[in-house]
Amino acid sequence: MLSQSSEHIVKNIPFSKLSASGEELMYIEKAILSGYIIGDGHYTKLCQEWLKEHLGAAKVLLTHSCTAALEMAFILADIQPGDEVIMPSYTFVSTANAVVLRGGVPVFVDVRPDTLNLDEAKIKAAVTTRTKAIAPVHYAGLACEMTAILDLAEQYGLKVVEDAAQGICSKYAGQPIGSFGSLAAFSFHGTKNIVSGEGGAIAINDLSLIERAEIIWEKGTNRSQFFRGDVDKYTWVDIGSSYLPSDILAAFLWSQLQDADSITQRRIAIWNRYHQAFEPLEKKQKVRRPIIPQKCQHNAHIYYLLVDSLETRTKILSNLKHHGVQATFHYVPLHSAPAGRKYGRQSGELMVTEKICDRIVRLPLFANMTSEEADFIISLVHESLL
Ligand SMILES: *Cc1c(COP(=O)(O)O)cnc(C)c1O
Repeated sequence: MLSQSSEHIVKNIPFSKLSASGEELMYIEKAILSGYIIGDGHYTKLCQEWLKEHLGAAKVLLTHSCTAALEMAFILADIQPGDEVIMPSYTFVSTANAVVLRGGVPVFVDVRPDTLNLDEAKIKAAVTTRTKAIAPVHYAGLACEMTAILDLAEQYGLKVVEDAAQGICSKYAGQPIGSFGSLAAFSFHGTKNIVSGEGGAIAINDLSLIERAEIIWEKGTNRSQFFRGDVDKYTWVDIGSSYLPSDILAAFLWSQLQDADSITQRRIAIWNRYHQAFEPLEKKQKVRRPIIPQKCQHNAHIYYLLVDSLETRTKILSNLKHHGVQATFHYVPLHSAPAGRKYGRQSGELMVTEKICDRIVRLPLFANMTSEEADFIISLVHESLL
């Protein structure tokens, strides 16, 4: 066995854990006492204002998930049957599903070996006459090369929809993730940095899309305009769905947003602790640690290690599990998944994606993690690689 030499200590350390601010119940109680818990209420407006301010967006609408925000985004990007959207294969299914639901085709491109983000140098070769948009995914809260991506989008007349699910409080060249594309989708799912269990938001940076965004958000009606007094009755004017979260969830999210800086700083402290501790393993070429480009200020959403093989990864994961630590791998590349093969298309060879997907280990990371917990995990990883 792996851990013959070490005493068998078991600590239950989950992969992620809620780091409550402590004010969640107070805000939820206030929402309930106000007698108004449906969507678009007081706390929804506060959260939207906070996000709008933080991102410098023209408009932000809360949604019940990032998946919903992505669905709205590809309606707004006007994806028609057969239209293509360029995205990494190494992402969550929602990026691709939102395109497929419009009858569009996700076109899978390889990622960069350093950041595991969409490789901007491979976008050009994926462009066809049917290409409508690029969907960069900011993996681990680390920004894609947005300058190059925006240049290409302009050159080919494409919309940019940022999958910023993991990107809250991250920056690229000093500017927040989610403020670059026409549209950006955020997640407040329980596994993300800022959470409401389930939850998300769409940021609209293109002024011309605001009115339609409100309509799609309100089930295809012009209800928002009606409440502002812009029209004297509201009616069905476009396609849409129910994308609003209850104000109870927004109340929860509001308390998390108040704590966003502290949550991010505490995550960064754990991330840095891991990063320092694994430097000797990298020097011995046992692992490759995350690489942070100079322009990127990240939010410590994920700490991962790349190891030499699937075998080594399995060894590390099972040793951690044996000691009660829940570490994990990540995406099955979408181009190789059954639905990806059916609905998508791959552009060129996805060599980096195929090389990294079996070798990535993600370690537990949450704002309330103690340094003792981090050190325990660090020693187990070292022990697994002896
Ligand atoms: C988490 C995640 C999503 C989906 O977010 P939900 O809020 O759970 O719908 C989409 N894309 C990426 C890259 C994610 O990490």
